[in-house]
Amino acid sequence: MRTLVRGGWVVGFGDRTHTLIPDGVVVYEDDRLVHVGRRFDGHVDAEIDARGKLVCPGFIDTHVHSGHRASHRLITDAGRPEFFGQPFLEISVPREGTRVGGDPRYARPTDAGADADTRLLATFTVAELLCNGITTFMEFGSQLRVQEALLGEVERLGLRGYLGAGYDSGRWVGDEKGRLKRVVDEAAGVKEFESALGFIKRVDGSVNGRVRGLLAPREVETCSLDLLRATRRAANELSLPIVTHAAYNVIEFYEIVREHRMTPVELMETVGLLGPDVTIGHGNLVADHALLHYSGGREIELMGRYGVTVSHCPVNIARRARSLDSWPRYRAAGINLALGTDTYPRDMIMQMRMASYFGKVVSHNLFAASAGEVFEAATLGGARALGRDDLGRLAPGAKADIVVIDLETRDGLRFGPVRDPIKALVECGIGDDVVTVVVDGVVRMKDRVIPGVDLAAVRRQAQSAGEAVWRRVQDWDPLGRTAEEISPWSFPLARE
Ligand SMILES: [Zn+2]
Repeated sequence: MRTLVRGGWVVGFGDRTHTLIPDGVVVYEDDRLVHVGRRFDGHVDAEIDARGKLVCPGFIDTHVHSGHRASHRLITDAGRPEFFGQPFLEISVPREGTRVGGDPRYARPTDAGADADTRLLATFTVAELLCNGITTFMEFGSQLRVQEALLGEVERLGLRGYLGAGYDSGRWVGDEKGRLKRVVDEAAGVKEFESALGFIKRVDGSVNGRVRGLLAPREVETCSLDLLRATRRAANELSLPIVTHAAYNVIEFYEIVREHRMTPVELMETVGLLGPDVTIGHGNLVADHALLHYSGGREIELMGRYGVTVSHCPVNIARRARSLDSWPRYRAAGINLALGTDTYPRDMIMQMRMASYFGKVVSHNLFAASAGEVFEAATLGGARALGRDDLGRLAPGAKADIVVIDLETRDGLRFGPVRDPIKALVECGIGDDVVTVVVDGVVRMKDRVIPGVDLAAVRRQAQSAGEAVWRRVQDWDPLGRTAEEISPWSFPLARE
């Protein structure tokens, strides 16, 4: 079956990067693109009318922590200063002997309602990605049970997922004074790694090839060096991409320097982890960052030399008063820049805008992080991270992952006059402007409707799941605080 999509602007593909085709067409047959250009005279069986709209390759989200992220809503404009703006320490480190409550990512299978909660988490994640034109995503270390649920929703709703349970050799808890305390459990890490490998071997290449495996040692500072070495061996043996958090956290940076007399990226090099198959989450607090006061830093050069990908999540880290320092410096070093949504919202268009604006502001350079560069990061950058030359582009032979974006915003005025569709998208677009999404040659969202998902019901369920998370915070917060104490209301709450 052959289908023609009639644009609008079409983002085509030249030798190395995208091209702009006014009033273009895209033709796909089964799961592959067969033609991209100004016209097509051959026979087609079906047509998608995208006139007046932008037709572009599906976005690739290189940093997804699944779920509705209710706990993250507690750390806007708030947080313990001694964590240096590191959000996950606020909301994922329980008081010793307790568990983070209400969040299905930390539930046990025996907990009441655990299955339904995990299913909601998976549906919410996959549907939100789809709504935002993200056709491929890389999950960044949720546990095995979450991966199983994601696998089901990826199969049902049609995305491409790189899945693989996260593992580490220990974790943080809060001690009796609320201080961070490291709990090391190397044996548990090895067990988690082995069960992650079992899952990967079972699912890699399944669901018509839409599901692939990925290795996720969660953070470089929470994994033993043996576990990192085992990760490299498995990646080479099974040709799997690796994701991890590194050079992302002031505490992590100083802990690694103190323990190993090396910076996080130097440590990764020492254990053989660096390579073009590695995606580093954030990589923004590198030794070269002036504010870390580390002399002789060479992490940017190292990441560039090994062709590493940095998954930049500009919205998430901007909320913590941070950004990449700086976009043009990373690019010049040869680092592959890709974008991720990390937590919320999973709006890749907003990520592009923030990457562009912060890229300019931080480097004091209006030419930096252009609309073209951030759009490349959201498409080709992700494809490079995965070693895929059939994703992130609209070119004959590539996968039929196509997104249609309404530049007229259903007769709104937000875009104004559109001259260059990519500049317009980066400056004026939002995720809700995505109207139709094709993945692997199948229409998975049409006119903002996803067959099989009642978005209003999912939102209602996520709201009540969020209320449960917020209600139970004092049960596990190391300082015993309520949600209101952790996260004061933006304005005084009217009580009567
Ligand atoms: Zn992350």
